[in-house]
Amino acid sequence: MGSYRIVALPGDGIGPEVMAATVRVVEKVTDGVTGLDLQITEHEAGAAFYRKTGTALPDDVLDDCLSADAVLLSAIGLPDVRKPDGTEVQPDMMMGLRRAMDVYAAIRPVKLYPGVKSPLNTADAGIDLVIVRENLEGLFSSFGGGCIVGNDVATDTIVITREGTRKVVDVAFKLAAKRSGRPLDGQQTVTCVDKANVFRSYAFFRRVFSDVAAQHPDIAIDTAYVDAMSLYMVQSPSAYDVLVMENQFGDILSDLGAAIVGGLGLAPSAEIGDEHGLFQPSHGSAPDLAGKNVANPIAMILSAAMMFDWLAERHSDEAAGEAARRIEQAAEQVLASGRYMPADLGGTASTSEVAAAVIAALMK
Ligand code: NAD
Repeated sequence: MGSYRIVALPGDGIGPEVMAATVRVVEKVTDGVTGLDLQITEHEAGAAFYRKTGTALPDDVLDDCLSADAVLLSAIGLPDVRKPDGTEVQPDMMMGLRRAMDVYAAIRPVKLYPGVKSPLNTADAGIDLVIVRENLEGLFSSFGGGCIVGNDVATDTIVITREGTRKVVDVAFKLAAKRSGRPLDGQQTVTCVDKANVFRSYAFFRRVFSDVAAQHPDIAIDTAYVDAMSLYMVQSPSAYDVLVMENQFGDILSDLGAAIVGGLGLAPSAEIGDEHGLFQPSHGSAPDLAGKNVANPIAMILSAAMMFDWLAERHSDEAAGEAARRIEQAAEQVLASGRYMPADLGGTASTSEVAAAVIAALMK
């Protein structure tokens, strides 16, 4: 029997609202799947907590994240809560958590669900690609470092290692092997997105990509420069299956990806390593929507589905796999019916009404 201890961090802004909606869905799916048991422990952390206590992520909360089977996080950060140097507390907590949990790959599906309108006129062929973002290195290696020289010069350094690149590229190929390929023709493909024409660090990333690709001869490979990829994702997204890239490029292209399939309210994410998994929507705390019960909870609900999927694979647990499939199918049915669309998708359904509709679909 799969029994798991989950740490939930509701965080800031719309975070507690989308977390409450997701916990309702998760509890309902757990009730309905035989052989699956979940214990959820919630902790305060984030910008509001920093304002109260001077700490965003207390040590005991971090310890609990490290000892849990998985962590669900909704969103943290408030633009008006800043450290003395003027930066927000959000990156401190996010990078601290990612580094401590060693979650080196962020998997970000970009999927156009039936019933959702893409702003692209090229979406007829379907959009179903996944961005695999290296999550610890690249430009973000310099977080907490960097250098300011007098009033005139500032630097942050990109770090690409063979081992860090090998691990994330390996995740991308294993993911491609499980998928049904790009919508255009079903060809399983991994595309390396880089800037290898200009920088040695990205040429190195591409070299490691080729080394790993040689171990996966059944998967087609492709390469693209990141500037061109931001064009291709708009012009011909159905030509892509799995895209793997450096941290900062992944950060930027995942928001572009969200935009072509209905927005951040539909963009889930799974940050995984060898020992830990952190599951959170790609969006932030949307302070403009906080406390109004209008945020779209589907990105967070789909992130919980990704958590079950990861637990299923890690523990060879068919029940967790069934929970993942059931949540995604229920969310898909709600979107396809068009009856409970939240405001960001042009509807009037509240956060809690969308959650109730997902639960109703689960019960069918
Ligand atoms: P944001 O993602 O919070 O919001 C961007 C836009 O998307 C806003 O218009 C917002 O209303 C909308 N949006 C976001 N989530 C939505 C949802 N679920 N439903 C409907 N609309 C949604 O980004 P921002 O405004 O740049 O940042 C706000 C705060 O969030 C900042 O403090 C930032 O540091 C933090 N942030 C946190 C994370 C994280 O927790 N991982 C990620 C990004 C930003």
